[in-house]
Amino acid sequence: MRAETKTGAVHMNDLSISFEFFPPKTDRGRELLWENVGRLSTLGPRFMTVTYGAGGTDRDWTIETARNIQRDTRVPTAAHLTCIVTPKDEIARIADTLWENQIRHVVALRGDAPRDGSPAPAPDDERYYHFSSDLVDGLRARHPFEISVAAYPEKHPAAPSLDADIAALKKKFDAGADRAITQFFFRNEDFLRFRDKARAAGINGEIVAGILPIADHEKAFDFAGKCGANVPDSLRERFDGLEPRSDAALEVSAELVREQVRALVSEGVREFHFYTLNQAHLTYSACEDLVHGIK
Ligand SMILES: Cc1cc2nc3c(=O)[nH]c(=O)nc-3n(C[C@H](O)[C@H](O)[C@H](O)COP(=O)(O)OP(=O)(O)OC[C@H]3O[C@@H](n4cnc5c(N)ncnc54)[C@H](O)[C@@H]3O)c2cc1C
Repeated sequence: MRAETKTGAVHMNDLSISFEFFPPKTDRGRELLWENVGRLSTLGPRFMTVTYGAGGTDRDWTIETARNIQRDTRVPTAAHLTCIVTPKDEIARIADTLWENQIRHVVALRGDAPRDGSPAPAPDDERYYHFSSDLVDGLRARHPFEISVAAYPEKHPAAPSLDADIAALKKKFDAGADRAITQFFFRNEDFLRFRDKARAAGINGEIVAGILPIADHEKAFDFAGKCGANVPDSLRERFDGLEPRSDAALEVSAELVREQVRALVSEGVREFHFYTLNQAHLTYSACEDLVHGIK
């Protein structure tokens, strides 16, 4: 795959984009989802994905939403699946349901302990998969899914070090993952350092840059804190005095996401996964920039 033309421009057919959505809970949310899925599907994404509620809540919505998106757009669509509180036999049943519904791609995750305070299964409880690498193993044994896993440029919040987390990522690839999609990040150097370290650790599989367009900067920065993604002061300053979701703030967000993606392309990054939050505008604007070629 050649990325550079004679003039040094990079064109869309050298790049791969994919989009994440979540299953909406209201009628209005469903309307918006379809509107935005329709708009973004015109950009030629390689795949789309649908998230899984923490602890498997709204699981049926994930499957139904993924199936409907795939049917209506003809874009291959993945269902996210978490294993932390779901026994292996139930995971097998879910895997069968996905397969029966023509879902051939799974984003395999461990997930987080339930927020209601109920304990996660004990680490020696053999009825459960305890890490996503175990889930990848289990899914692979059940059906020949395409499998994506999560990666963390600034390390997973619970990992003792970035090196330990990269060793965990290697286990996911060794178990048969096809690609890793990263947590979002705001400092490109974190992603680039992570990518280099992963390669040095013997990970040769695809590492897709996860990009969060900032639809509401207050919420995004708060969420970043929970995910362990650093928000540099220079980024906060761009929104100084701006009302979240105002036209002025959205204009800054659109500039930022275009800048981020352009800078990554100039560093040789070719695969991008956008956390759309079911909103098309900012993601569309960043991808349109890619579609028209980056000089
Ligand atoms: C692209 C992406 C999509 C996501 N989608 C969802 C979603 O739809 N629903 C949802 O609830 N959450 C989602 N999450 C969040 C995710 O569930 C949490 O970050 C969760 O805490 C970890 O999941 P994981 O699959 O990375 O876990 P794991 O890969 O199991 O890692 C968890 C921790 O264990 C360590 N570890 C992993 N494997 C091993 C091993 N074999 N031995 C020792 N240590 C190990 C890791 O270093 C890490 O600290 C998503 C995250 C990303 C990046």
